[in-house]
Formats: sequence, structure tokens, C-alpha cells
Amino acid sequence: MPASPLTLKGLTKRYGGTAVVDGLDLEIAPGRCHGLLGPNGAGKTTTLRLALGLVTPDAGEIQLLGHPLPAKAAPARARVGVVPQADSLDPDFTVQENLLAYGRYFGLSQSEIQARIPDLLDFAGLSGKADARVPSLSGGMKRRLTLARALINDPDLIILDEPTTGLDPQARHRVWQGLRQLTARGKTLLLTTHFMEEAERLCDRISIIDRGRIITEGSPRALIRDHIDAHVIEIHGEELAAWRPRAERLCRRCEQAGETLFCYTAEPETVIAELDHQPGLRYLHRPASLEDVFLKLTGRDLRD
Ligand code: ADP
Repeated sequence: MPASPLTLKGLTKRYGGTAVVDGLDLEIAPGRCHGLLGPNGAGKTTTLRLALGLVTPDAGEIQLLGHPLPAKAAPARARVGVVPQADSLDPDFTVQENLLAYGRYFGLSQSEIQARIPDLLDFAGLSGKADARVPSLSGGMKRRLTLARALINDPDLIILDEPTTGLDPQARHRVWQGLRQLTARGKTLLLTTHFMEEAERLCDRISIIDRGRIITEGSPRALIRDHIDAHVIEIHGEELAAWRPRAERLCRRCEQAGETLFCYTAEPETVIAELDHQPGLRYLHRPASLEDVFLKLTGRDLRD
């Protein structure tokens, strides 16, 4: 089994006496996509910054591509690509110039970078845009350029902090396609996202983190299987309060959020048969998702 590109052991970071990363253990598998999910303030970005050697831990160990961090951050980071939460492209430069400037940070020669640019533009679907200036690009194009830029040093591990936030569905699907190509080429991805559907589609393995600790870990399918019943029936309508005790008898778990009752069950048929005879109730029957697991484990309260 090849070595893990990133291993965190007992990792702790405190700000103002509060542990925002609190004894966190994580090992990601090579050539796979690993998702780090958690509500706002859970400690995801701090974990990524620790993993890159940008923040010094108060305790714990970090091994990044065979190097101990923060001591050997420079050689480790030379093999890592980073897609930050906000685009940090230079607006005064063209697409091509952005790639050239970024490549120079890694000590690549002009000719080495230039040789890589056509493939990177092709990967990003920006082949006709080499001389376009950044402000003329759409949000999706800017994200794809940021992703292409993160590949300039041909990294083994790519760390992505909310790579599709703010994109429309078409642009998001295009980024997903790019990320799948990267794992198909043997690259390892570590990503944070608030889109459970994105995590479910892309990630081989997911760690859910809250208050600086990993609260569960597994493949999306295993997390759904282990934490939640397979069917969800969302019920609302004027008769809901009167019908709720019946729902609670029929379903293993019911949870009210606002005007909607979420019922989790392995056997939806009986519930649906009864609901079909309740004119004062409306319902939606759907398979359980990663979002249901996430909300069960981290709660429905707003975090910011
Ligand atoms: P997430 O990415 O999951 O939203 P973060 O890692 O950004 O979470 O933040 C975790 C907690 O650490 C938050 O409460 C945040 O306010 C706090 N925090 C992050 N960076 C700093 C910092 N440089 N100084 C003080 N507090 C910080």
C-alpha cells in the first residue's frame, strides 16, 4: 500500500484558549478524493492551513508527502496544489500570464511553464482564452483557471477549499468533471465543501468534522447506511400537528424543522399508504442522503 499523502495525528490548534482543531486524526488514501465536511466554524480551513504548514500546531504531528510539517513545509508544498476559497487571480494579467507568474513561484523556468500551458488550458476548457484578461472571464472560467493554476507544478496532492461555491449548476458540473479527471490520473484530492451532493458524487471517503474533531468517517454510502434509515418522508400541511404522533409510531425517527416533519424509515410503504388518505397533509418521499446524515450528526441550528 503506497504511503498516505497526508497524515494528521492528534492535531491541535488553539486560538484564544479555544481548541478550534482538537486532537484531530486523519489519513487520506493516495489517488482518492477525501472530503472534509462540517458546519461553519468547525475547523476545516484551519485544518487545511495546518496541513499546508501555513499555521503552526500547538500539538500533534503532520506528515505531508513524506515530510514532517511545519519543519519541512517547503519541499512538501512543492508537490501540492492549492485551490483557495476565494479566487486570487491577478486581474491585471491575462490567463496565460497568471499561469506563468504562478509557475515562477515554484522555480519553474519560462520554457517549462510554457510547455505545460496548452494542456492546462485544455484541461480547464480555456484553450481559446490564453490572452483573455481575468476580468473578462465568467465565474466558472475563473474557478477553472484557479484549478489549472494549482496544477502548474504537477502536484501529487491537490487541496481545494470549497471549489464550487458561487458557481451555477453548469459551471459546477464542469469543475466536477475536471476533478474526476484528476483522480483518474492518480492525483489525490482533499476538499472541503458545503454541498453534500458534491461530496456524495466526488468523494471516496468523507470525514465529518465539528468543533475541531472528526465525528465520523467513511464512504458516502457507508455513512448513509450506518447513520440513517434508507427512506425520508418530508411531511407538511395543516393537519401535521394532529398527525405527528401517528408518524412517530410508524417511523423510527421523526424530526421537525420549521413547518416540515422529516420522517426516517426503512419501510415507507405503510406511511405513504396512510398519507395518501390525508387530504390535510402533503409529502415528499425521497432516498436518504448525505445531507440527512450531516444534519443528524451536526444538528439543524445555524452556526453563524
Ligand atoms: P471552517 O473552515 O470549518 O468554517 P475555520 O477553521 O475557518 O472553520 O474556523 C474555526 C474556528 O477558528 C472559528 O471559530 C474561527 O473564528 C476560528 N479562527 C480561525 N482562524 C483564526 C485566527 N487566525 N484567529 C482566531 N480565531 C480563528
